[in-house]
Amino acid sequence: QEELFKKLVAHSKEYGFIFPSSEIYDGLSAVYDYGQQGVELKNNIKRYWWESMVRLHDNIVGIDSAIFMHPKIWEASGHVGAFNDPLIDNRDSKKRYRADVLIEDFIAKQDEKIAKEVEKARKRFGEAFDEAKFLETNPRVIEHKAKRDAVHSRMVAALNDNNLEELRQIIVDSEIVCPISGTRNWTEVRQFNLMFETKMGSVSEGANTIYLRPETAQGIFVNFLNVQKTGRMKIPFGIAQIGKAFRNEIVARQFIFRMREFEQMEMQFFVRPGEELEWFKKWKATRMSWHRALGFGDEHYRFHDHDKLAHYANAATDVEYEFPFGFKEVEGIHSRTDFDLGNHQKFSGKKIQYFDTETGESYVPYVVETSIGVDRMVLQVLSASYEEQQLEGGESRIVMHIPAALAPVKAAVLPLVKKDGLPEVARDIQHALKCDFNVQYDEKDSIGKRYRRQDAIGTPFCITVDHRTLEDKTVTVRHRDSMEQQRVAIADLSGMIAEETGF
Ligand code: ATP
Repeated sequence: QEELFKKLVAHSKEYGFIFPSSEIYDGLSAVYDYGQQGVELKNNIKRYWWESMVRLHDNIVGIDSAIFMHPKIWEASGHVGAFNDPLIDNRDSKKRYRADVLIEDFIAKQDEKIAKEVEKARKRFGEAFDEAKFLETNPRVIEHKAKRDAVHSRMVAALNDNNLEELRQIIVDSEIVCPISGTRNWTEVRQFNLMFETKMGSVSEGANTIYLRPETAQGIFVNFLNVQKTGRMKIPFGIAQIGKAFRNEIVARQFIFRMREFEQMEMQFFVRPGEELEWFKKWKATRMSWHRALGFGDEHYRFHDHDKLAHYANAATDVEYEFPFGFKEVEGIHSRTDFDLGNHQKFSGKKIQYFDTETGESYVPYVVETSIGVDRMVLQVLSASYEEQQLEGGESRIVMHIPAALAPVKAAVLPLVKKDGLPEVARDIQHALKCDFNVQYDEKDSIGKRYRRQDAIGTPFCITVDHRTLEDKTVTVRHRDSMEQQRVAIADLSGMIAEETGF
């Protein structure tokens, strides 16, 4: 699986999806640029989200708020005081880790040990194997489970109490070693704020420290009244936003999974106090269906309900996808209570209330949020789509099974040969299609090589113009996944592509 992930990273670069940022200067850690295919894929993902959230819901509207915001916002939101990661260093390797991530890796290892015992026993007992009973009675499994659960509950308690010494003690007691040096030479745990700072205004005017936003949500909260009043919105309603966010992540790893500059698609849904948990349940189901509708297989998704809740939440869950490096969060769904609006009311001194005409009451609305990383979705789609296929006759191909609606290029138009008027006809077809779809024209190399290039970027259709086209105005359409070919009239191409690539 790790091997596969490395290949995917290399493939993403080779075919113009994702480049390391500032590469000719040896890159900038945890920052990436999107190339000519990557930007198309990313835009399509954003459109898929926007259409399903904003267009399809009568009671959700969008905004685009500024990245720079008044510094007090980050005090009200709790980010100045509490947006911290607990960090620990290994003295031998000089590597820095998030203490909670080290402990979570340890917990995952206990789970792997249990899974191995189960596998071994299944082989030994065959048909007669009773997994539930085995898990309850096998002494080694019981030991692994006890260790895992004890460490887990200690970690949750330490994080809730913000007890840094206890976090270090768990690492020491569990005999966790540094993955690089293999030693247990740990420093104390320290807090590190994740927000990037910059200065606004010239120094002579008295420079003000402001922050690059670490989430897009606050731009929605501070515009709650603006949108509610001007849009005459009635609760329950939502405000959606797509935009950049910045976090000075310490453990920045796994390619575009954890970046320092990334994009979020967030929706804050405002509800009556007391109805938030019902809406939380509804949004959980709605968001899971959105992910599953991409067709990558339901078994690769799961919820991870939080038992350690952030200071603002009364319920929280992650939608996790099975990446090549394991199940990881793609989206967070949080019931944020009236924490944000209530605090902005307090810090700004402005009344942020909603008058409910049905109940005749005024109140600070409660909020259920859905928050998803665009880049993580890109990585999810890329890793789910990548396949190395052995073909008949000893050949092989790399094909990206990107859902047609998200594919960067929808169709490639290919003249079979570079003569006899075929390129001209192919160009005409390309020009006719390009107003509606992202299409490519390619006449270089053999037709087989051109097919491979399109497979590698996930183009659903290759349209080949040959001599028969000159006689009967039909072309060969080759389908990416099945590699099947069919004859289609030029006049029918646009309808066919629209049908297959629409949301
Ligand atoms: P994690 O636990 O992975 O750090 P988080 O719980 O802090 O994530 P949220 O604050 O809930 O994440 O952010 C919502 C979504 O934004 C996440 O589900 C993820 O998809 C995305 N996201 C958060 N941080 C990053 C990052 N550094 N790089 C890329 N995407 C991110």
